[in-house]
Amino acid sequence: MSDNYDVIVIGAGITGLTAAKHAVQNGLSTANIEALMFGGLVVNINELEGDTTGSGTDLASNLMMEITDLGAANLSETVTAIARDSNGLVVTTDAGEHRARAVIVASGAKLKRLGIPGEAEFEYKGVSQCADCDGPMYKDEDVVVVGGGDSALQEALVLAEFCKRVHLVHRGAKFRAQQYLIDSVAKHSNIVPMWNSVAEEVIGAEMVNKVRVRNLTDAKVTDIPCTGFFAYIGLQPTADFVPAEVARDADGHVITDDKLRTSIPGLFAAGAVRAGYGGLLDHAMAEGTAAAKAACASSAG
Ligand code: NAP
Repeated sequence: MSDNYDVIVIGAGITGLTAAKHAVQNGLSTANIEALMFGGLVVNINELEGDTTGSGTDLASNLMMEITDLGAANLSETVTAIARDSNGLVVTTDAGEHRARAVIVASGAKLKRLGIPGEAEFEYKGVSQCADCDGPMYKDEDVVVVGGGDSALQEALVLAEFCKRVHLVHRGAKFRAQQYLIDSVAKHSNIVPMWNSVAEEVIGAEMVNKVRVRNLTDAKVTDIPCTGFFAYIGLQPTADFVPAEVARDADGHVITDDKLRTSIPGLFAAGAVRAGYGGLLDHAMAEGTAAAKAACASSAG
């Protein structure tokens, strides 16, 4: 099977849905390809902040309905490769091939795992990566959060509203998060930072009941009684299918120029898969819009 579009958008998170919406609104035949549920990481947010209100799921669902009503094709397939030939770009999926004059990679990123013993074993039994969804389950209990960046502090603050104590385990001696998050964490007496420390094991029976933490300065090992474990140690871009010739940074993010162009003509990248992405919802939407604009110009050429 092979079909033809002006633009194919890979990924139905907020960046991809926004890109598809703008492409189709500009009169381009557009397909959106997503292997999993639409929405991406935003569906983990119960209450959006700033100009966009409601839940992450509401926002994603509304965008999905809009692009469907506008006439975009929504394909539930897994992309395995992208190649360029003399007629344009070929996107190969588990269902066949699709052709387009421009392709926007908006496949996002997954939360990284620590890979420590017990982390996989206790998934959904106390190990979670969604503070917003699961926080109320830990009301008046102790939880452990790992990480020292924006995500770890933001999610620790969410959990602090429900939990008795949030043990914030960070391998460094200071957080690398934005100052407003650091200041807010400092104001919460139930968030307990554990500096220069790493989580070594998640331990439990049916459910998590403690986490083993090692202090890197004095090698002291402490078991923290808790019922929840949340690691926020950064994001892993989803870019396995992007051709190897497209440059990546050390963490695997696709490198683009300021017009979101990759080194392959007609191939763009936007959002969390891209090096330099800012990480906020506004950035996701802005990059989706900019990528669509660039793809429209390229597709018209
Ligand atoms: P990040 O900025 O890469 O921070 C990851 C944190 O995890 C760092 O503190 C790092 O420690 C720690 N870490 C990494 N690997 C580890 C390991 N194996 N063991 C223990 N600790 C480990 O990731 P992020 O916080 O998820 O943020 C991702 C992007 O989204 C950033 O651009 C961020 O600004 C953005 N974001 C923004 C907001 C906001 O503006 N409200 C909210 C969330 C995310 P070191 O510090 O020692 O390296």
